[in-house]
Amino acid sequence: MTKDTRKCSFCGREGKSVDMLISGINAHICDRCVDQAQLIVAEEQKMKHKEKVPSFKLLKPAEIKEHLDLYVIGQDDAKKVLSVAVYNHYKRISGKGIAKDDEVEIEKSNIVLVGETGTGKTLMARTIAKMLQVPFCIADATVLTEAGYVGEDVESILSRLLQVADFDVAAAERGIVFIDEVDKIARKSDNPSITRDVSGEGVQQALLKILEGAIVSVPPQGGRKHPEQKMVQINTQNILFICGGAFDGIEKRISSRLQTNAIGYGIGKEKQEVDKDNMLQYIAPQDLKSFGLIPELVGRLPVLSYLNPLDSEALRRILTEPRNALIKQYIKLFEMDGIKLKIDEEVYDLIVEKAVEFKLGARGLRSICELIMMDAMFNAPSEKTTKNVHLTLDYARKMLHISNIGRLKVA
Ligand code: ADP
Repeated sequence: MTKDTRKCSFCGREGKSVDMLISGINAHICDRCVDQAQLIVAEEQKMKHKEKVPSFKLLKPAEIKEHLDLYVIGQDDAKKVLSVAVYNHYKRISGKGIAKDDEVEIEKSNIVLVGETGTGKTLMARTIAKMLQVPFCIADATVLTEAGYVGEDVESILSRLLQVADFDVAAAERGIVFIDEVDKIARKSDNPSITRDVSGEGVQQALLKILEGAIVSVPPQGGRKHPEQKMVQINTQNILFICGGAFDGIEKRISSRLQTNAIGYGIGKEKQEVDKDNMLQYIAPQDLKSFGLIPELVGRLPVLSYLNPLDSEALRRILTEPRNALIKQYIKLFEMDGIKLKIDEEVYDLIVEKAVEFKLGARGLRSICELIMMDAMFNAPSEKTTKNVHLTLDYARKMLHISNIGRLKVA
């Protein structure tokens, strides 16, 4: 047997003094050097990642909208407003073209989106965050309470953002937070002096601070603050807040404001045509105030837009058009089992018809699809000969009947 004279080409140790020596074309490496190299690679990658985070891609408003168009159907007005606000916000953060001693300070443009539930508010915020590759989290305004009450402190939102950002404070400080159901923390009475609605107004007050931009002490693991816990300081100045809410019944307030204005200023002038079927398009900050948001909060949400209710045509498009449309997902799922899924056009119409009939909106499309596909998804993968699945209108009807679609109905 020939003597092993190999040495590690990195540290020079002989083969016999290491646990393992791996040989390449004309070099060897010992297990210790492999470990070392691995650490160096990991460290380098971490550094690279850290460097990458601040330089998010700043797209132009038109490009942002184009990107939104890939995922969100319709809602053109909201997309446009959002694209400009996001562009301005991140331009402001990047500080491009702004001298240090510049007197013009660009203020933050937090956003509020008004529209029925399930019309794409969260989807838009999420899509933008993903596009910009910034941390994103969703908070539900209804679970927030003033400090000291049962429920979650407003700071818990920032804990969540920090967690999503992998505890990278700098990244979290550039993230996007979607606060859902802000309408639910509205003051119940129009007149603050009659009944002080503590829960709603208190939360609004608490939100003010973080929306405006402040340095907030945050318990990194979430939960209640307690003295022994190590706190992390987060500056919210560059965090973009997007608030969403259905603001049920706000149309009435809009229309009464428009009427008052018409009486006050419209005399003698030709009356402007008002599209009564879609009052939301005329929404203005004062409507949010009369709905019960405190003026200071409305002031911190300077960008306001609305989302249209989704009609059958929009639902039909949502089913098949977005980049990750439901139907595309099902086709993919079957494809992963080597099965080609074919769905007749009439089936799409049926799905939409049922979503409208049962008032399920876009979220309901998924539940209806599940009912229709359940049997096929259950059986096809174990039937070795099945290479094609064809869903016809009759089959879809039958499946909906068997599965008692009526139970999906919203009361
Ligand atoms: P909300 O307005 O209540 O925040 P979401 O954005 O969460 O509604 O919408 C719920 C789901 O419905 C989304 O995940 C998406 O699948 C679908 N959806 C709603 N609106 C749209 C839309 N305009 N375009 C595409 N999908 C939509």
